[in-house]
Amino acid sequence: MENERLNQLMERAGVRQYDCYQCGKCSGGCPMAHVMDLKPRGVMRCAQIGSLRRILESNTIWLCTGCHTCAERCPHDVDIPAVIEEMRYEAAAEGLTRRDSKVLNEVFLANIRMFGKNHEMLLAGLYNMLTLKPLQDMASLPHMYKNKLLKLLPKEPKNLTEIEALVKRAEKWRGLK
Ligand code: SF4
Ligand code: SF4
Repeated sequence: MENERLNQLMERAGVRQYDCYQCGKCSGGCPMAHVMDLKPRGVMRCAQIGSLRRILESNTIWLCTGCHTCAERCPHDVDIPAVIEEMRYEAAAEGLTRRDSKVLNEVFLANIRMFGKNHEMLLAGLYNMLTLKPLQDMASLPHMYKNKLLKLLPKEPKNLTEIEALVKRAEKWRGLK
């Protein structure tokens, strides 16, 4: 049963797990591998041995930034981010979502709906408040502000109607609304 579900998810991701020959180039380039409890190569190994649960319960699916470095480095064109995305939806459907990831997702989407793009300062502030970690990452604020990596105020929003329609379409497509 679990194997069948795993195969369905892999099919949705458009990835054949046996295409991976475990070279490890994906994990070697992943910027988040050092904090993942299952490295990208491990995700593929679990998919090969039918260990869906191990993937769903890993922190990897919530820490992956979707940067695609792993897929770019893979000598066999294995699209790990697509696998991780499917696993993330499956974990959410099973109620395995981490609270902080859920909060981040909600704050991010609210930001997009309000301003048409993410406003980092607001995202970080709200996220810290809602996850009860008010001082998290505050030490890097002066550096980021000085180097113009953060803006105090969001830009005038544009095309909000189109953006709202896009968000709704994406939610409908994923069966979230
Ligand atoms: S780089 Fe590709 S082939 Fe190598 S371990 Fe990662 S997914 Fe498998
Ligand atoms: S897409 Fe995810 S798994 Fe792949 S390199 Fe980026 S963070 Fe790592």
